[in-house]
Amino acid sequence: MVFKKLLAALAALCFAQAAAADTLVDNVNGYTIGADGRLVRFQAMLVGDDGKVEQLYQRGEKPKRTRYRFDGKGRTLLPGLIDAHGHVMGLGLNALQLDLSDTKSLQEAQAKIAAYAAANPTPRWIIGRGWNQETWGLGRFPTAAELDSAVKDRPVWLERVDGHAGWANSAAMKEAGITATTKSPSGGQIEMARGQPTGIFVDAASSLIDKVVPPALPRTRDQALDRAQEIMLSNGLTAAADMGTSPDDWLVMRRAGDDGRLKVRIIAYGSGVESALAIAGTRPTPWLYGDRLRLVGVKLYADGALGSRGAWLKQPYRDSPGTRGLSFVTETELLNIMSRAAMDRFQVAVHAIGDAANAQAIGAIEELANTYKGDRRWRIEHAQIVDPADLARFGRNGIVASMQPVHETSDWRMAEARMGMDRLGGAYAWRSMIANGSPLAFGSDFPVESPNPFPGLAAAISRQDPEGQPPGGWLPEQRVSLEQALAAFTRGAAYAGFAEDRIGSLEKGRWADFILVDRDIFDVPTPRQLRETKVVETWIAGRKVWPN
Ligand SMILES: [Zn+2]
Repeated sequence: MVFKKLLAALAALCFAQAAAADTLVDNVNGYTIGADGRLVRFQAMLVGDDGKVEQLYQRGEKPKRTRYRFDGKGRTLLPGLIDAHGHVMGLGLNALQLDLSDTKSLQEAQAKIAAYAAANPTPRWIIGRGWNQETWGLGRFPTAAELDSAVKDRPVWLERVDGHAGWANSAAMKEAGITATTKSPSGGQIEMARGQPTGIFVDAASSLIDKVVPPALPRTRDQALDRAQEIMLSNGLTAAADMGTSPDDWLVMRRAGDDGRLKVRIIAYGSGVESALAIAGTRPTPWLYGDRLRLVGVKLYADGALGSRGAWLKQPYRDSPGTRGLSFVTETELLNIMSRAAMDRFQVAVHAIGDAANAQAIGAIEELANTYKGDRRWRIEHAQIVDPADLARFGRNGIVASMQPVHETSDWRMAEARMGMDRLGGAYAWRSMIANGSPLAFGSDFPVESPNPFPGLAAAISRQDPEGQPPGGWLPEQRVSLEQALAAFTRGAAYAGFAEDRIGSLEKGRWADFILVDRDIFDVPTPRQLRETKVVETWIAGRKVWPN
């Protein structure tokens, strides 16, 4: 009996010591989203020795004693933001490559390409991205000849801003063996003029050039992941879903984890079923490195993008009546691939932008849900243009709508041109998704758009671009509240990746992943002030990781 009492006393002492090592994050203007989707406010947060939240405190309340106290100096504290749809390696590699996203004309782009070539004699291939003929006011795609005039002696291959078209120079086409007789692959288009390839490769046709580009060296790829993490952390992102992880990407992430360089949390979706199987075998991986890495599902494609008219529509494009876009897979093919993934309990995330692609993806989910029961959290990525008649099917089937508010503010003019307002009743329909009971997750699709989530939050509540256009917002009935937008960037994004038991909210048992920002986002009068919010510090698992 005495021995038992002694043990109990000893246990109590150990517990007291563990509790004493806790950190009180004190004197903050704290916000998180509660289980009911409502805003929760707090003034202090107790973080356990294990890096997880112990308790939140309101004004006046305090824990009895803690070993460490961090003074937040009254700053606003938010849960670490989670991007529900990004491309982590793409973000890092992009940051290391030629970036044309700031060019305002073809001439400016040509000058920048030539200067980059001169400054970077190796590697031989010049790879870049970010061009957009719409911003250049060109009214057509650029040509290989126009690229040759910048760089002739080395292959150049430049991805369009949306990732759905590529621009090659003559040297790149020569190395890829592209001639006047090369056939466009299914799901893609080699642009032709007067019987010759113009240098533009749309959607699946990009693979004709991609496959001859020498792969980035492992060292470069490690650098890219480090760079991507710094960019994410500096923007207040503590986690992201990586939409299309290749086995090689996975190795880079594992190396970082093994080396202790993995700071952010990555919820990975294999790039197609083959990648998921190669990475994880026959089921999702466990969480690795203290809940920093897991492969949970598979990313699939039903169509292309609106900018390149690759989005698959129910009716022809208004500004190109000869086409309805590109369907990447037949109904049977999609069912087979999704079934193959679901059989091994991989979560399925289908890219669908056009209304026909969304209808196809929803139809496949409805059919498969009869066979693959339980908590599957079928995801549709982007869900940009949905036939209003199909909106309720999202909620009915519990389909996660994984959407990117900044796409709306970047695309609204183009969407009107491509389809006309009368067909856009279900376009970027965030509020309808919530109203229909669909779990909503927000992201940015970085590096297609900036990974900074604050422009996303501003777009979500205003449906106005950074210039404040259009006045009053585009289809303003689809605006959401800031509370709903923050929920979609935190709890919603965590739920979308089967991670809500670990991250997405600051409550007992969840990781203490949080950020301090330079303003009270719930007390700013304009979307502009929300958009311009700056991250001051980023913490993961109760430790400050940025700036370091
Ligand atoms: Zn994407």
